[in-house]
Amino acid sequence: MINICDKSMCCGCAACVQRCPKQCIAMRADSEGFFYPLVDAVRCIDCGLCEKVCPMLNPGEERVPLHTYAARCTDEDIRRESSSGGVFSVLACEVLAGGGVVFGTRFDNEWGVVHDFCTTPEGLAAFRGSKYVQSNIGDNYIKAEAFLKEGRRVLFSGTPCQIAGLKRFLRREYDNLLAVEVACHGVPSPLVWRRYLEERGALCNVENVIFRDKSTGWKSYSVRLSMDKRTLCEPFYDNEYMKAFIYGYSMRPSCYNCKAKARSSGADILLADLWGAPHLIGADDDDKGMSLVAVDKEALLPSGKLWLKEIEYSEAVKYNSSIVKSVPLNEKRDEFFVKFAKGESIAGIVGELTRLPIAQRALGFLKRVVKKIIGRK
Ligand SMILES: Cc1cc2nc3c(=O)[nH]c(=O)nc-3n(C[C@H](O)[C@H](O)[C@H](O)COP(=O)(O)OP(=O)(O)OC[C@H]3O[C@@H](n4cnc5c(N)ncnc54)[C@H](O)[C@@H]3O)c2cc1C
Ligand code: SF4
Ligand code: SF4
Ligand code: SF4
Repeated sequence: MINICDKSMCCGCAACVQRCPKQCIAMRADSEGFFYPLVDAVRCIDCGLCEKVCPMLNPGEERVPLHTYAARCTDEDIRRESSSGGVFSVLACEVLAGGGVVFGTRFDNEWGVVHDFCTTPEGLAAFRGSKYVQSNIGDNYIKAEAFLKEGRRVLFSGTPCQIAGLKRFLRREYDNLLAVEVACHGVPSPLVWRRYLEERGALCNVENVIFRDKSTGWKSYSVRLSMDKRTLCEPFYDNEYMKAFIYGYSMRPSCYNCKAKARSSGADILLADLWGAPHLIGADDDDKGMSLVAVDKEALLPSGKLWLKEIEYSEAVKYNSSIVKSVPLNEKRDEFFVKFAKGESIAGIVGELTRLPIAQRALGFLKRVVKKIIGRK
């Protein structure tokens, strides 16, 4: 049976929970706010299925895609609402138009992030855009399997480890499944997100959250919290929640030891940001969002609704290492969560952990003064 001794060896996909024939595994949050499986040993019949479907115990092989593209959706409204080039929505609309089902993430009533499915284009809007919080996958592998068995076309989207979990859970290939992974830097703790909203006084009156608001440009995107009486819109590099994420303080332990990178999840399609446009497509992008799309089969991308240009995968990943490599473990991560457990504010913790030592600050100050003096001469 599953027994989590090393937290970096569990990505929280809940494939084990959903496959257990005795329903004797439950996901429980730890003090950092990440969920881990806990087995009721009395009810367990030692069938070993939970271990068989675990993507961390059974990682896939790294793969090089057949084709890699720079891509963007030709519908500008959809592209604006999407985090990258809006390719997810194009793929999803195609599946829905054929009577299929699309699984993705949306906010719940308390602004937590959950997986869900939709069968209409209206339902799709909630899935659009990156939410930088680990989503609760719930029993969506079970639901997806039921649709697949009925013969419905299913697009299942998620982080690479969620796709790896789905593929292990299903234990066989389905021609009617389109598994779409989004490249993944890592996922922050749902509890850190909740605390951040509370500190902002936002939890009770949030009306909308956009993690990647492009009104300040795609590359210098902002986090936008719309509340009933005010709006907070901060560039990501000034936003404390995003700093904790980007510096690697608030992410799940498995994200520093990711076993689903480099297309090893088994997904049919990888979606990512396309960085390095001048080098990859010979021209700069328009700063409205551009996707990197990697596919293993011909004809997976609907024609007509996408602008596409083929690029070299090996070149593209040079500008986007999170596709192939885990982020290094930040040595201050433990300190972050110790302070978090004591109830210190996210802004306070991030401010403290990112503050440079006095000697380094003094040296920087001296350098700026010297530069100014030299510049004046
Ligand atoms: C936590 C996270 C980290 C990411 N890190 C990187 C990165 O380091 N480099 C990079 O190039 N791209 C990263 N991405 C992917 C990128 O931001 C876009 O999501 C992707 O390129 C698809 O964009 P799009 O414009 O086609 O569609 P969008 O409409 O922006 O894509 C939405 C898709 O993302 C899924 N999604 C949104 N939030 C979550 C979540 N919390 N968990 C699982 N799935 C989610 C939705 O279900 C949907 O399938 C990350 C995404 C997430 C969610
Ligand atoms: S060994 Fe079988 S019964 Fe026991 S927890 Fe795992 S899946 Fe459930
Ligand atoms: S990685 Fe997924 S399947 Fe493996 S133990 Fe964790 S939740 Fe269960
Ligand atoms: S970095 Fe890896 S382990 Fe972490 S959420 Fe992303 S895919 Fe999962």
